[in-house]
Amino acid sequence: MVGGNAIRGTRVGAGPTGESERGDAAPRRRVSYWCANGHESRPSFSMDAEVPEEWDCPRCGLPGGQDEQNPPAAPRSEPYKTHLAYVKERRSDADGEAILAEALERLRQRRQI
Ligand SMILES: [Zn+2]
Repeated sequence: MVGGNAIRGTRVGAGPTGESERGDAAPRRRVSYWCANGHESRPSFSMDAEVPEEWDCPRCGLPGGQDEQNPPAAPRSEPYKTHLAYVKERRSDADGEAILAEALERLRQRRQI
């Protein structure tokens, strides 16, 4: 038999979403969040953990809220911003470009190894 493929297939992307199969997990509750794009994410929290009001959508990075009809507004209309984008915004454009160039250069050097 050529096993393996089926097993790999179920493992990829399965993630920690399985209901407590082992039975030794602390009781958890599943909370649904919706982002402005209508994506639903359902992280689970332990019963005594504080459930955050917002949860970043794992698909598009927008903040999600627990009210499906009224998700938190996207921070402006821009797509998901990288940390670098924030840095660039805070500084002058010239500074930002220098940082970007430096970062790219470092990345390139690392790839050459
Ligand atoms: Zn989303």
